[in-house]
Amino acid sequence: MRATSPPKTYRVKSFGCQMNVYDGERMAELLADRGIVPAPEGEDADLVVLNTCHIREKAAEKVYSDIGRLRKADGSKPLIAVAGCVAQAEGEEIMARAPSVSMVVGPQAYHRLPEMLDKAVAGERTTDTDMPPIAKFDALPARRRAAPSAFLTVQEGCDKFCTYCVVPYTRGAEISRPFADLLAEAERLVAGGAREITLLGQNVNAWTGEDHKGRAIGLDGLIRELATLPDLARIRYTTSHPMDVTDGLIAAHGEIDKLMPFLHLPVQSGSDPILKAMNRSHDADGYLRLLERFRAARPDIALSGDFIVGFPGESEADFEATMQLVDAVGYAQAFSFKYSPRPGTPAATMADQVAPEVMDERLQRLQAALNRDQMAFNQASVGKTCPVLVERKGKKPGQLLGKSPWLQSVWFDSDVSIGEIVEVELAEAGPNSMAGRVRASATT
Ligand code: SAM
Ligand code: SF4
Repeated sequence: MRATSPPKTYRVKSFGCQMNVYDGERMAELLADRGIVPAPEGEDADLVVLNTCHIREKAAEKVYSDIGRLRKADGSKPLIAVAGCVAQAEGEEIMARAPSVSMVVGPQAYHRLPEMLDKAVAGERTTDTDMPPIAKFDALPARRRAAPSAFLTVQEGCDKFCTYCVVPYTRGAEISRPFADLLAEAERLVAGGAREITLLGQNVNAWTGEDHKGRAIGLDGLIRELATLPDLARIRYTTSHPMDVTDGLIAAHGEIDKLMPFLHLPVQSGSDPILKAMNRSHDADGYLRLLERFRAARPDIALSGDFIVGFPGESEADFEATMQLVDAVGYAQAFSFKYSPRPGTPAATMADQVAPEVMDERLQRLQAALNRDQMAFNQASVGKTCPVLVERKGKKPGQLLGKSPWLQSVWFDSDVSIGEIVEVELAEAGPNSMAGRVRASATT
């Protein structure tokens, strides 16, 4: 690769989960520290970071087509860095398959991106897929500006080894960031403009730490501490695992006003034999009982989940059990996916892989039920007045977009500022959003 002039502008494109969005923001901050600025909308960037997702095959393959398409208006290639979970899983392969890529950096090593960039400018191609996660956080610059709703990664990695999932291999073992670091980062986010913080982790409710008095605390303890920050109005967390739900976390939903009434608790399937084959360590009934306890603590809690259809061996009866679970819960929203065999995971080589057309048909039925329930939840919200955190401008002049406590997107006309929390009456329900009417400004 030839030496090139140092990049003046960058673009970070993040795919996949919210943890990637967080990592993308942190990489952007590292580049900004170097004086590199974001490329203006619609203009070429000198450096493009593709922050990739490996969770399903389609997501991983997209990387190569994106690399192929990247070109500046004068026909030259920008400097290209591939980051994220595809980088971790396929580091050397990317280098071999895509000669225009000069940096491949895994999710635990991106704090070293600036050094890699220096080498890339000198014409050297480098791969860094080391996994020292805490070192990464220590090496990142302090947060400066923040969106009204900001992400804060508190936990990384996964020890659960669900048989279909690549995360334990791409993100490594479960680690919790220290309490003091999180408090400091949360304070910086709030000082930088955040009104809401979503605590992130692959298994966020596996977070453990020690508070400033040295007492062992879990995620609920962390939430309680963060709730004392005066200018922080809202706290959310995602994604939780049923196995790591504690009594304290359930109770927190009834006790902490700033903790929003929303829970994303993936179940994947409603069939016990499939859950067992997935190594999920919970059954359908245990999952439903957990949800009942959350609902008892916070009756208006909105529920969300993840589903996989077509896991190897899934029969029509197994799928029907999933449909029954969906009917029993009444989700406010949910994500559903066709099973995608991931290289190196146990499920990829299991017998009885389900035919693609069967998966398609099941996914359609499941999504029809989930869409029906989401619409029902939104319709049941019509007439309620609730605080909405204004996150950005809408498409039409004068229109703003924010989130209800139940994570619904709410559109309304107003001249209030981004970052304000306003009382909005939810006037009309759509499948994916609500139309609202402003009542008054709120303070919390
Ligand atoms: N840790 C979380 C959990 O246990 O649910 C979520 C991790 S994963 C990034 C997000 C979702 O992707 C999973 O909940 C699952 O529904 C889906 N997923 C993971 N591996 C998959 C695969 N091989 N095929 C299809 N969907 C998959
Ligand atoms: Fe993947 Fe299971 Fe870990 Fe979630 S709990 S990240 S689905 S292995």
